Amino acid sequence: MPSPPATPVSPVSVTAGALEHSVDVVRPRVLAHPPERIALYAGVQINGAPHLGTSVMQTAAFLLARAARERFGAAVVVRFGALDNTAFDKRVCAATGTLYERSYHHVLGPDGIAELTKRYYGDLFDALCESTGVPYEVETYTHQQLGVRFREEFLESLARRERLRWILAPSHGNVPVGFPCPRCGWLQKHGEDTDLLAADATGARFAARCLDHGRYEAEVAPDNATFIGLTTLHRNLVKERVAVRDEALPVIVKGADWAGGCRLVDEAFLDYADTLPPSRVFTPVVLSVSGAKLSKTLIQEGTAQLSPETEPWMLDTTAWQGSRPGYARMLHGLVTLMLSDPRHFERGYTTREVAGLVDSHRLIDAAAG
Ligand SMILES: [Zn+2]
Repeated sequence: MPSPPATPVSPVSVTAGALEHSVDVVRPRVLAHPPERIALYAGVQINGAPHLGTSVMQTAAFLLARAARERFGAAVVVRFGALDNTAFDKRVCAATGTLYERSYHHVLGPDGIAELTKRYYGDLFDALCESTGVPYEVETYTHQQLGVRFREEFLESLARRERLRWILAPSHGNVPVGFPCPRCGWLQKHGEDTDLLAADATGARFAARCLDHGRYEAEVAPDNATFIGLTTLHRNLVKERVAVRDEALPVIVKGADWAGGCRLVDEAFLDYADTLPPSRVFTPVVLSVSGAKLSKTLIQEGTAQLSPETEPWMLDTTAWQGSRPGYARMLHGLVTLMLSDPRHFERGYTTREVAGLVDSHRLIDAAAG
C-alpha cells in the first residue's frame, strides 16, 4: 500500500490556541468597521526571473483573499505593486565616489515594464484568479507615486521628517529622497547632494546633482508628476498610509523576512494620531540549506547554499518544465498545505522540504493533470 502523503511537521506556533486560520488576524478590523471590500497588497519583483519564495508569497495572497471572503463575507481583491523603481543599472562618480542608479522605469518605460510583468507573472496570476475566483490588479510604483494621495502622504512625511528619520533609519537617521535628473533619469542613490530647499503641505522643492548634467531642482506638488524616489521603509510607510485611506480594508501580505522592517513601519505609524497601521500577514519564506532565504542576488552570485533536491524551477520559475497553469496548480496545492494550520504557515521551508512535500503529495502529477 502506498504511504499516506506526509504533512509538514511543525512546532507549536506562538499563536496556538489564538488562531484557527492565519487570515483571522484581520478579524478585529472587520468587527470594528465591517468592510464591503478587503484589499490584500503584495509585491511583484521585476528585476529578473522570480524564485519559488516569491511565488509562495503571491499564491498565499490569493488563498488568503479567498479565505477572507469566505470567513468575513466581504468582497476581496489582490493588489500587486510592481517595483519598477528597482535599479536597472548603476554608475559611480569617478570624482566623488557617489553611487548613481537608473530605474527599470527610466530604462524600459511603461511598455517594457508591462511586458516584463506579464512575462513573469501573467499566467500565474490568471490561473490563480481563475482557481480562487479572486480578482487582481497590478500597479507599478511609477503609477502609484503619481497619485494625489501618495504625494500628499509624501509631503506629510516631510513635515514629520525629524521624528520619522530616526524611526526609519535608527542607526544614523539618514533617509534620503531621490529625484531622477530630468535630462537623463539617473539619480544619486544616497542623496549626498540632495537638499530640501522648502516644504509645506502644498509642495516641496529640492536641489540635486547629476553626474553628467550638474545641479538641478525638483518640485513635488500633489498634482504634478515629478518622480519621487524613496528608500524601502519610507516608501512602504507612504504606500501603506495611502492604503489605509482607501475604502477597502487593507491587508499587507509579505514574506516573513519583512517582520523586522514592518516593526519600524508600524512604529512610524504611531507618529500619526489619526490611523492604525494596516493588518499584516507574513508568509513562509523558502530557505537554502544554511537557513538563508532564497535570494536572487545569492543565486546569481552562486553563493546560495543549496541541497541536491533543489530543482532549477525553485530558483528560476521560468525553468518549470510543465505548463504555466500546471505550475499554478502545483503552487495552489503546496500553499494550501502550508495554510492548513497556522503552525505550518508561521515557519520557513527549505528547498529540500518543499521537494519532499511536492513529491509526497504528487503535486507534479496534479500540475500535469
Ligand atoms: Zn543627467
